[in-house]
Amino acid sequence: MRFTGKTAIVTGAASGIGAATAARFVSEGARVVLVDIDRDGGQSRAAALNAASTGSALFLAGDVADPLTWEEARELAHGSFGPVDIVHSNAYRHIEGEPRDLSGQDWSHVLDVNVGSLYLAARTFADDLTAQRGALIATSSVHAMFGLPGYSAYAASKGAITALCRQLAVQYAPRVRVNCVLPGPVATAAFDPDEDLSRAAGATVLGRMGTPDEIAAVVAFLASDDASFITGASVVADGGWSITKDSL
Ligand code: NAD
Repeated sequence: MRFTGKTAIVTGAASGIGAATAARFVSEGARVVLVDIDRDGGQSRAAALNAASTGSALFLAGDVADPLTWEEARELAHGSFGPVDIVHSNAYRHIEGEPRDLSGQDWSHVLDVNVGSLYLAARTFADDLTAQRGALIATSSVHAMFGLPGYSAYAASKGAITALCRQLAVQYAPRVRVNCVLPGPVATAAFDPDEDLSRAAGATVLGRMGTPDEIAAVVAFLASDDASFITGASVVADGGWSITKDSL
């Protein structure tokens, strides 16, 4: 129970990696505010966590690109649980296309949701995290390091997340640790179920896609005292996707 008495905020918590992280935190004793734009999904996730465990979960419906959502998250956490120890900034948007396919609005939207939200997280919770000797973790992606057609805005946002995490790690040291995780292919709603998932699985060295729980385990590690000497790190969790290329 590494998080007994701790309060965490997890965004994109209605589904996939965020839902798994929220569940992991709750299972290890944390009180968690789940934030998601999907009201129904988020409510049922929080209800399931409260039913299944001794932890406490609250849900806040909101858009992470909106500063108001972050103010509300802080108010909810403070009013119900207390100062925030852990923030997992994880919600995302992907609009497929090369620059000519994307409107300026598309571009800004992806950047606002994916990396603007990390700025808002830092701005909103820097005081809490500093007071609590807390941890901020962001979900980046292997797209921060590699080029794939169609990912211009998404990849730019994920690269910016890694750079901003390093910056925040320096800025708020020594009291706050800031790290990011770079998942490879993980079986979540991010993948179209009609897509040939064996292609994504085959591109990893381990020959399979990851699970949300496997990424949540990394996030929980980075949030915990087990990672007390780790800050500013970009932790790749991709089944070896990034260390091999099919040259046949
Ligand atoms: P997912 O679709 O299962 O979950 C994403 C959640 O974010 C959804 O619940 C969605 O409602 C929420 N969301 C979307 N826009 C939002 C907004 N504006 N405000 C609040 N919530 C919003 O996806 P996932 O695979 O769990 O993705 C989680 C993170 O993992 C993302 O940052 C993604 O870029 C990253 N990632 C995923 C993979 C993968 O293969 N699944 C790989 C690398 C990185």
